[in-house]
Amino acid sequence: MRKALVAGNWKMNGSLAANRELLSALSGAIHGSDAVAVAVCPPAVYLPDVVSQLQGKPISVGGQDCSDETAGAFTGEIAADMLKELGCEYVIVGHSERRARQQEDSAWVARKFIAAQSAGLVPILCVGEQLDDREAGRTEAVVAEQLDAVLDAAGVAAFDRAVVAYEPVWAIGTGLTASPEQAAEVHAFIRARVAGRDPRVADGLRILYGGSVKADNAPGLFSLPDIDGGLIGGASLDADSFIGIVNAAAAVQAQGNV
Ligand code: PEP
Repeated sequence: MRKALVAGNWKMNGSLAANRELLSALSGAIHGSDAVAVAVCPPAVYLPDVVSQLQGKPISVGGQDCSDETAGAFTGEIAADMLKELGCEYVIVGHSERRARQQEDSAWVARKFIAAQSAGLVPILCVGEQLDDREAGRTEAVVAEQLDAVLDAAGVAAFDRAVVAYEPVWAIGTGLTASPEQAAEVHAFIRARVAGRDPRVADGLRILYGGSVKADNAPGLFSLPDIDGGLIGGASLDADSFIGIVNAAAAVQAQGNV
């Protein structure tokens, strides 16, 4: 059985005081399990404080982005090695907000994915369609293009040390969630696409769902066969909500469904 992952993407939110309060609530309630891994991805400036507060706790830390370069004249960028040195285990690459605002294309995201793995980080590769893509029946084509760019550049074996997050862009921060059928279809498509290159890698690959996941819709989503946890935005900033989502993943795992 694949170990589920619930990762919180704090985006550009938080403060030293608010983070400490949130982390103290999370560490009090999340005790670690063989079935569910938990991670938080704070803004980079808070990483040292967050890593130090989570020392010895069963909650990993991730970056929200990394450079595709290793060092040099890249003002404002953060190398994957730097995230690793600070204690990160994961890094999100290709989040739709960066694809849109920073115009990151799939080739660029693929280079970030490779840079992350070269530094020893586990990339969480985000893929997902816009609403107009879905309405035009282009969901699979868009997801295939985003996935294939990384499969071609990094090779399928690299997905042994990676996580994919399917995040329909129209469901991010909007309160809209993909229906279980919509999510299940795309998750199955992603797994089949990877299986086309290597069935063993596809079988072990964790594919998270992201897009307005909350404690009340998490059980339904996490029970679907190809959904192995979630990438959580807004609800990861609220301790009770995030703990509820982690508990939902654990409950589903206990039933042997994830
Ligand atoms: C995200 O940004 O990765 C995300 C899933 O956000 P939200 O949960 O707020 O929709």
